[in-house]
Amino acid sequence: MSEPVLDYDQALLAYEPVMGLEVHVELNTASKMFCGCVNAFGGDPNTHTCPVCLGLPGSLPVVNGKAIESAIRIGLALNCQIATWCRFARKNYFYPDMTKDFQISQYDEPIAFDGYAEVEVDGELFRIEIERAHMEEDAGKSLHVGGVTGRIGGADYSLLDYNRAGTPLIEIVTKPILGAGAKAPQVAKAYVAFLRDLVLSLGVSDARMEQGSLRCDANVSLMPIGATVFGLRTETKNVNSLRSIERALEYEIRRQAALLAGGGTVFQETRHWHEDGAYTTPGRSKSDAEDYRYFPEPDLVPVAPSREWVEELRATLPELPTVRRDRLRREWGFTVLELQDVVNAGALDLIEATVAAGAGAQPARKWWLTELARRANEAGVELAELAITPRQVAGVQALVEAGTLNDKLARQVIDGVLAGEGDPADVVAGRGLAVVSDAGALAAAVDRAIDANPEVAAKVRDGKLAAAGALIGVVMKEMRGQADAARVRALVLEKLG
Ligand SMILES: [Zn+2]
Repeated sequence: MSEPVLDYDQALLAYEPVMGLEVHVELNTASKMFCGCVNAFGGDPNTHTCPVCLGLPGSLPVVNGKAIESAIRIGLALNCQIATWCRFARKNYFYPDMTKDFQISQYDEPIAFDGYAEVEVDGELFRIEIERAHMEEDAGKSLHVGGVTGRIGGADYSLLDYNRAGTPLIEIVTKPILGAGAKAPQVAKAYVAFLRDLVLSLGVSDARMEQGSLRCDANVSLMPIGATVFGLRTETKNVNSLRSIERALEYEIRRQAALLAGGGTVFQETRHWHEDGAYTTPGRSKSDAEDYRYFPEPDLVPVAPSREWVEELRATLPELPTVRRDRLRREWGFTVLELQDVVNAGALDLIEATVAAGAGAQPARKWWLTELARRANEAGVELAELAITPRQVAGVQALVEAGTLNDKLARQVIDGVLAGEGDPADVVAGRGLAVVSDAGALAAAVDRAIDANPEVAAKVRDGKLAAAGALIGVVMKEMRGQADAARVRALVLEKLG
């Protein structure tokens, strides 16, 4: 059932949202975290199990080396420090999907810590501080049968499937995220999208939110504008799509604002997101860490990755989006603002391809962000959807640099390419657009202009060089714009001494 909410803009006038995001990533290792069972989604219930992941007495866990490797690579990609020595810890709690009555996790000794990620919302860059990325095992799944919404309350009976128990998980936890204001829900969405792309590019997870292999718990609290003490937070669990993350946070901000504005207090609890009605409902009251009575896992040896191994793994990282942007900015000699405009226009790949096809970075930027952006805008399409390729844009620029086209003619050539008349050279030939390069024809046109405007010519002879502009205009008009203005100017000045 939905609760009273405040208008979103009104809520943001009075309160600053403070978010904390916990993202769980299931690793795609062949076997589970602490046993040899196959690590695969689905399967007949309780077929991917063994004494270890069923938590039978006397069974002993053995850590999966590949999972540690994936954890380190994720940590490195998030600019984290990698622990030289760390241990697993037992997180004690009772729940039927956790057969041992404890989860093997990491507590105060995470494998990776103190990193950051940068995400972009509407052209604004937000830096998200990463507190830690730690390793743990996933729980099994409960299925509650007979209840109204599949929840345990009101169910006739519950079924348990331990196929997922022991799946390797990396939990990535942010530090409090402040300063995003009204964009907080969008920042959260952008961050989770960034993580999804990151683990996909690392090849360590299939990151399918709909299957739960990447899921986000979104903590949010509100702080009166100008205050410095965080409010009480709620944690919306297992939000399973990017869109839901944004919507769930928006709802929680509005709900908490209504509570606070009405003189109430926020109850610290976990909440469930209901996609159909777009609201959250209370789950359990939020436990503090001490309730879990963490202690070091006595059945596993500490993890102490050598620095050589960490550096080897660092060398396997693909180029990350932020690193790539920075590299291109330096290679192209763009200012931060210029690159920002390029990214905002969705032109980064296009310009990179245009440069690869031989154009300079600045001309490539100029064509895509001015002439072509205007046309895309008029047509209501994305830049990449225009019927011109980066190679063709580089072709136009090459013709400009060869003196075959001036800017005005180049724009007409672009028209032709967009109209499907072929490559730039075809359009030049088909429309007869090249600048007049016949020196004799050009000289004759300049002579005619001088003869027809004796007073102007006299001024230029007297040293009033600005007057030459009028003569150049006459020649350009006679040539229907198909002349190189700089060359005409040189000719005029040469003839008038
Ligand atoms: Zn097993």
